[in-house]
Amino acid sequence: MLTDAAPRKANRAGFLESDRIKMLDLPQDGRLLAIAESIEQTMKATRASDVRRACAEFLEATSQFYKVSDCDVRVLAARPLRVRENGATELFGDYSPETMLIRLWMRTAVRKEITSFGTFLSTLCHEFCHHLDFQQFGFPDSWHTRGFYERAAALYHHVRGTPLKRLFWIPVAGGRWRIDWPRTNRGW
Ligand SMILES: [Zn+2]
Repeated sequence: MLTDAAPRKANRAGFLESDRIKMLDLPQDGRLLAIAESIEQTMKATRASDVRRACAEFLEATSQFYKVSDCDVRVLAARPLRVRENGATELFGDYSPETMLIRLWMRTAVRKEITSFGTFLSTLCHEFCHHLDFQQFGFPDSWHTRGFYERAAALYHHVRGTPLKRLFWIPVAGGRWRIDWPRTNRGW
């Protein structure tokens, strides 16, 4: 995971705020966990229409919890060849702020392998966090900041029922950051 570089002028304050906010409110009940489990079940049957229905239910519940407009979701069997690239992480899905539509694909473009449930769910959470950036935080853009990745990870671990890891970052050229996986996995 690599962050975007900070924009130069107008949007810099929003970028820095996005970078700073590391936590999201999370529901205290197990509703999202239950829906995530049903996404996993439908993925086993690999019918995109069933997976879509489960994802739509997930997004309805999250949008309700965060009190933001619903966003729509489309689940595609394979990744289209031409995809609006929003950085290196958008390999399994994307989000359009204009149409508030999330697209997810169940197979990778090149090798046509089924996306794993963990990757699929993590992508759903990631794209929903783009939606929150615009609809809840009111940012003029949705950058991949350290805070963005932390918020997406908090949501993902909540819905997966797995412990949240502290993320460690290493600065790279151009004022960007990448995850230090050895330290993050070790926990210190
Ligand atoms: Zn993204």
